[in-house]
Amino acid sequence: MARIRSITDASIAEAAALLRAGELVSLPTETVYGLGANALDDTAVAKIYAAKNRPSFNPLIVHVPDVATARQYAQFNDLAEHVAETLWPGPLSIVLPRTEACALSKLVSAGLDTVAIRIPASPHARRLFAVADIPVAAPSANKSNRLSPTEARHVADNFGEEVSLVLDGGPCTVGLESTVLDLSTDTPTLLRAGGTAQEALEAVIGRPLARAGTDDHSPKSPGMLSRHYAPRTPLRMNAPHAEDGEALLGFGAIDGTLNLSPSGDATEAAANLFRYLHELDAMNFTGIAVAPIPEEGLGHAINDRLRRAAQK
Ligand code: AMP
Ligand code: MG
Repeated sequence: MARIRSITDASIAEAAALLRAGELVSLPTETVYGLGANALDDTAVAKIYAAKNRPSFNPLIVHVPDVATARQYAQFNDLAEHVAETLWPGPLSIVLPRTEACALSKLVSAGLDTVAIRIPASPHARRLFAVADIPVAAPSANKSNRLSPTEARHVADNFGEEVSLVLDGGPCTVGLESTVLDLSTDTPTLLRAGGTAQEALEAVIGRPLARAGTDDHSPKSPGMLSRHYAPRTPLRMNAPHAEDGEALLGFGAIDGTLNLSPSGDATEAAANLFRYLHELDAMNFTGIAVAPIPEEGLGHAINDRLRRAAQK
């Protein structure tokens, strides 16, 4: 069972130090308990997917203490500025294009050129961010397909030592996930209903929101077509070696142009996956051959993403 500490200056300092050192910390927010990791650190972010047993890489929400910090990572248009000013802090995540110099791990965006960002209202979360001084990637702190946790003991019951610490801030006041609003295209789109009501959003935006997946007859904006990242270069899997002109993305003993993890560690491979695919995609190979990756642990999520990329 993961260790629980109530909120004090000392536990906040410990949690901040653990986050900075690349460990997982569960933190209270007003929505649900989050499973937090340093969003600048690929390996720390990969640990989130491993701990949750996620079968695929969905992009994660990045939590920051204020709008000035958010602007370092996400490009705010006028509408986003207005929504942020009116509804943050609160249970609302906004999807925006990553900035040119964005230092966030590519894994938090699952390889996309957008990022979902949020300023939580919880005073506990904000106190932690102020001390840690890093952006924190945090999905709900539950195993995949289990209920979202609204109390510290829900988290502790479900995780062992892979979560270094659970900060206990009492029950969550909202108890629902954040609403996810995509403002990365010209069509403001509700990606997920949650703690901020659609009516409240529409009042601030001044027009009805499109809903992802329900407006199938309307023309889709480019952002909605590419919710999953895939390289432009054709990709094939389970390749023991590359053919002429191809890059080889290695794993374990199969070395290549780049190697996802020379020691055959799936968490390390997940941490490198999107960065390496982007790098190989920019090198003008005729194809990307990927070495076999065993279907165990994060290997499931890695192969899921590679299969989608290979089918394109
Ligand atoms: P969770 O982190 O479990 O609270 O879930 C995050 C939600 O935000 C999921 O529904 C994601 O698909 C969505 N999301 C996060 N980042 C992005 C993004 N860059 N583009 C689209 N959806 C996103
Ligand atoms: Mg969740």
